[in-house]
Amino acid sequence: MQNEELKQLVRTIPDYPKPGIMFRDVTSLISHGRGFRAVIANMAEPYLEKGIEAVVGIEARGFILGGAIADKLGVGFVPVRKKGKLPHDTISETYVLEYGTDELEIHKDAINHGERVLIIDDLIATGGTAEAAAKLVRALGGHIVGAAFIVDLPALGGCKKIEADNIPCHCLMEFEGD
Ligand code: AMP
Repeated sequence: MQNEELKQLVRTIPDYPKPGIMFRDVTSLISHGRGFRAVIANMAEPYLEKGIEAVVGIEARGFILGGAIADKLGVGFVPVRKKGKLPHDTISETYVLEYGTDELEIHKDAINHGERVLIIDDLIATGGTAEAAAKLVRALGGHIVGAAFIVDLPALGGCKKIEADNIPCHCLMEFEGD
């Protein structure tokens, strides 16, 4: 399936989780069998020959996508989770969301020095979440080859922001507004 067709499967929920936010809900896309398969293929495609050694997925929708993409690339999966969820020694990073602040963590031993990493999440808005995940990976000595998302909200400038930080950004589709 082409990305234009995949875009039709993303459901928009106005005023969630608070008034003024247009929530781009990808659960309607990933519950569609052919749609999910195409999302994984299209997100992984630019990285098939890039020597990726680990996929880092951001909780929670980044886990669903990241696990399947890691399998496709034949590499391991590393979770970046909300504070307090990972059982072993962690490092953490506080970040600003489109609607609030939060803290992300990664296991200290999850990435080897110099490892080539691909970061995965469902959507990039302001880029704060992806930037926090990138800081965690870099703090462990990882080399970020790219970051891939289903949805970009270009009005919020997240992709431009992480690209300015030397992280190539790949998205399957864009939605106007925020
Ligand atoms: P940001 O840090 O601003 O790039 O926000 C990205 C994170 O927040 C992702 O994990 C998204 O799942 C979630 N998110 C932010 N804005 C939206 C939105 N309008 N629709 C759906 N998810 C969103």
